Amino acid sequence: RSKRRGRGQITVYSREIALEMKHATQLEQALRTAVIADAVDAHFQPIVRLGDGAVLGFEALARWIDADLGFVSPSVFVPLAEERGFIDALSETLLRKAAEAALSWPRELFLSFNLSSVQLMDPGTTDTILSILDRVGLDPHRLELEITETAMMTSAETAHRIITDLRAEGVKISLDDFGTGQSSLGRLREFTFDKVKIDRAFVSQITTDRTSEHIVKAIIAMCDGLDLQVVAEGIEDYADAQKLKALGCGMGQGYYYGKPADTVATGRYLREQERRLLVAHL
Ligand code: C2E
Ligand code: MG
Ligand code: MG
Ligand code: MG
Repeated sequence: RSKRRGRGQITVYSREIALEMKHATQLEQALRTAVIADAVDAHFQPIVRLGDGAVLGFEALARWIDADLGFVSPSVFVPLAEERGFIDALSETLLRKAAEAALSWPRELFLSFNLSSVQLMDPGTTDTILSILDRVGLDPHRLELEITETAMMTSAETAHRIITDLRAEGVKISLDDFGTGQSSLGRLREFTFDKVKIDRAFVSQITTDRTSEHIVKAIIAMCDGLDLQVVAEGIEDYADAQKLKALGCGMGQGYYYGKPADTVATGRYLREQERRLLVAHL
């Protein structure tokens, strides 16, 4: 295809690719170093009960700030680590850090952790996760794993085994970014989930777009029927929250309730909340 565009075009095209590759390689090197140096951190975003805003748990989100590159989004570096074959090392560090943080929280809130699709294709994942929990001392009942459909499509049998074995140990499974994949509804029949997270794309339009509202309404009704818990992602303002509450959505997450914060800030926030509850009961 590029041949037909003439020589000049090819040169520009390949130079762009070369630059991209150089960037990716630089990024990969920096990320590998950061993983080894334990410099990638887990931040935590609250997941609340929409009825009263009570915090029920936190989602761990990977954060990396490189000295030269600055803030790099996990939507960039997670796929890179997957592609270059070191997502296991990255994820193990993150799960350990997140589980340690969860153990220090004043209440037994759940910890939600994103599992990469690559990990869901690896039969060793179950043991890896359970042994990290065991070493840290976090009860598997407090862990929820967020997965997307990609892995379930490519390696269904292995994914099935991992999900079944982890659920038998008390770990819960959430279907992340629900509604954006190719055959979301089919997955609900093939796999057993505990929770569904409605993708931000629908939630962000819920007060302005009737179609989004109807889609969210239908997802909530379906989850009720299937005995699945529902979390709405990306709640950014009061109006979003009110609308979702009115639609009967059980849980929510988003900037309106809290942005992802580091371990120290999260711990401080929770202890402050505990103190207030205590004072209120005096
Ligand atoms: P995700 O699992 O769907 O996580 C939710 C994303 O939405 C997070 O982006 C979060 O910061 C963002 N978010 C939360 N509330 C709001 C809101 O009200 N408005 C808007 N605009 N955004 C909101 P983040 O942290 O950039 O992560 C992006 C994606 O990277 C995640 O999407 C997840 O797929 C992946 N990721 C992050 N951490 C990890 C990790 O430790 N392991 C793996 N495998 N993937 C991760
Ligand atoms: Mg997630
Ligand atoms: Mg999501
Ligand atoms: Mg909005």
